[in-house]
Amino acid sequence: MKGQHVAGTNTVSVVDGLSDDEAACVLAHEISHAIQHPPSASYAAPTESERQHAERVAHGSASLILHTLGGPDYDAVAIRAAYSDFVPFDRLDSSELREARQVADIVVRAVSMYRAG
Ligand SMILES: [Zn+2]
Repeated sequence: MKGQHVAGTNTVSVVDGLSDDEAACVLAHEISHAIQHPPSASYAAPTESERQHAERVAHGSASLILHTLGGPDYDAVAIRAAYSDFVPFDRLDSSELREARQVADIVVRAVSMYRAG
C-alpha cells in the first residue's frame, strides 16, 4: 500500500520515497477516496464488491484529476506500478464513470480555488 485514506477522518497519507509522478498519482487516488467517504458520512465496512467499485471509481477519478490539472498519466503509472484493482479509464462502466467525474469535479474545483486565490 502506497497511500491511505482513513474513513471518518480528514487524513490522507502517501508513503515516502515515491517518484514525483507516482506520489501525485497516489495522492489523487487517496483524495478521491476522501471525497467518496467524507468524515460526516456514516461508515460501514464495505462488501468486497463495494470495495472493488470504490477502487475503480478512485482510479478513474485520479486519472481525470491529473489529466485535467496537467499531471502525470495516471493510467500509465498505475499499469507500471501494478496498482491493485486497477482498471484503465476507458474500461470503466457508465456508473463508475459518472461517479469518477463527480469526485474529480469536486477535487478540481477545490484545487482551482487555491490556484486562483
Ligand atoms: Zn484505493
